Amino acid sequence: MASFAEIIHKPETVRPPNLEDHRLACAAFSWAHARHALDESLEGKAGFNMATLAVDRHAHGPRAAKLALRWLGKSGARRDLVYAELAHLSSRFARVLEDLGVNAGEHVFLLCGRLPELYVSLLGALKRECVVTPLFSAFGPEPIATRLSLGHGRVLVTTTSLYRRKVQAMRARLSELQHVLLITDDDGPLPPDTLDLRSLLDAAFTPYSVPPTDAQAPALLHFTSGTTGQPKGVMHVHEAIVAHVATARMALDLQDDDVYWCTADPGWVTGTSYGILAPLALGVTMIVDEADFDAERWYTILEEQRVSVWYTAPTAVRMMMRSGTSAARAHHCPCLRFIASVGEPLNPQAVRWGLEAFGLPIHDNWWQTETGGIMIANFRSMDIKPGSMGKPLPGITAAIVERLADGSAREIQQSDTEGELALRRGWPSMFRAYMGEDERYRKCFAGDWYLTGDRARRDADGYYWFVGRIDDMIKSSGHLIGPFEVESALMEHPAVLEAGVIGKPDPLVGELVKAFVVLRPGTKASEDVRRDLLGFARKRLGAAVAPKELELVDMLPRTRSGKILRRLLRARELGLPEGDISTLEAA
Ligand code: ATP
Ligand code: MG
Repeated sequence: MASFAEIIHKPETVRPPNLEDHRLACAAFSWAHARHALDESLEGKAGFNMATLAVDRHAHGPRAAKLALRWLGKSGARRDLVYAELAHLSSRFARVLEDLGVNAGEHVFLLCGRLPELYVSLLGALKRECVVTPLFSAFGPEPIATRLSLGHGRVLVTTTSLYRRKVQAMRARLSELQHVLLITDDDGPLPPDTLDLRSLLDAAFTPYSVPPTDAQAPALLHFTSGTTGQPKGVMHVHEAIVAHVATARMALDLQDDDVYWCTADPGWVTGTSYGILAPLALGVTMIVDEADFDAERWYTILEEQRVSVWYTAPTAVRMMMRSGTSAARAHHCPCLRFIASVGEPLNPQAVRWGLEAFGLPIHDNWWQTETGGIMIANFRSMDIKPGSMGKPLPGITAAIVERLADGSAREIQQSDTEGELALRRGWPSMFRAYMGEDERYRKCFAGDWYLTGDRARRDADGYYWFVGRIDDMIKSSGHLIGPFEVESALMEHPAVLEAGVIGKPDPLVGELVKAFVVLRPGTKASEDVRRDLLGFARKRLGAAVAPKELELVDMLPRTRSGKILRRLLRARELGLPEGDISTLEAA
């Protein structure tokens, strides 16, 4: 393991962080400044287009020939796109849409793996002022059809094989879907009623100029992970890019010469806000890996591609932990200077593992599909308190509130008191609607507060600590217990890889705490281990909070975006209907 002296003297870490002092940055910040910092020409303008800001404005300047995107194919192929090329190709896609008669405000869905065409189409559709939804390609036919219907999909970009397997049989049901553009990946003839995307792009050579776009026009429709129930369609507008960029600068510390790798699929909001728009708008070089997770492959990418900033998720970190620190140390990643994680609570154990494996701590940050961008983060310049999500970003006012019976929210000023995490409305990437669910949208707000549905507390130093989703909280003998605290305590045990904790109805205590535990490879499941874990948890947490039941399992159900599906653990435990499992990762 690198010593602390080595870490401190890594040349890359000597560069000053973009956010040097959190308090001063908060005092100086305004969203008007953030706009100006993104592009001086935006000052006072009501209109701008996300994709123009992401690629076109680099296409004729000093970044024209800079590598924008390095694509690593599943089977070893590689494709490099410089900024001018990406701008050009995406304009061709916008031209294709125009030639097909697809107009501003119409919905374009993208269903494919992380192929270069995905990035080109997303940017091109934005230039055409369409609303874009990238869908995770592993979805089955039903979730695809439901989302296409809910989002009024008029255009679908997909691959021939995905189309044949997942869409063709549903096509008649999708009355609004007019154009299917295929990235051909087999030698057969095109299926009926489809078009060949590559030929269309080749033919679309007349230049396209992006019309003046209203910054408040809908741009992206993302579906939530479905962790608490049916996924919601969350609408964002072009202006969101101001927040994507400002937050990527401050929370991910992205700088001009970074090689940046966001491992999230664009089918989830992280893979679009921070896997496409923010890094491109900041003019950095991004890595796109087509393949699924594989620890050895990931270490090799970090090393060979000289990744300097890496944005990933706790589930991936835990999978890498599974192969131990020796696998990490077998690779040399001197360029890696900043690691961040989002999506689920990052257990203190994982923060420390980062130090052991890479000589770098992992910086947790918190946000949601609805917030469109990072809201709370551990910044590079700040001391990390392992297990905390960090502090609100400059420009973001967070609070711990209590919902009152009349629908309003009361701010809890006292530190270390649990309540619902709320954000003061008004940041540019705040969602503007839940598609087809106006009432649900309205209910997310109490006066000026957006209520997040997550419980948290703030300590005396202003750090926020995630407690749990309101839906996952456990009421036991008058205590309100957050699963994260119990899961993290279990993970401190050397035999535990991960844990999922639920409340189980109990006549005596209301709900009793039950833990499902996955052991680390090499530890054999036995009654002794189980008892040892129960005793260990009781010592750490006290009898009131520690699990009363503990089951050793091979894996935990999780969403395809990597979140533990506690509601499914609970439903299965209690023999209840499983509910919406469209985002469940296949076993
Ligand atoms: P649904 O809303 O459909 O139930 P979801 O909330 O999981 O799904 P996302 O928007 O993808 O959908 O996830 C946001 C949620 O993920 C947050 O509200 C929070 O519960 C959790 N989350 C994200 N980042 C963190 C983090 N750093 N620490 C703790 N929880 C996090
Ligand atoms: Mg949610």
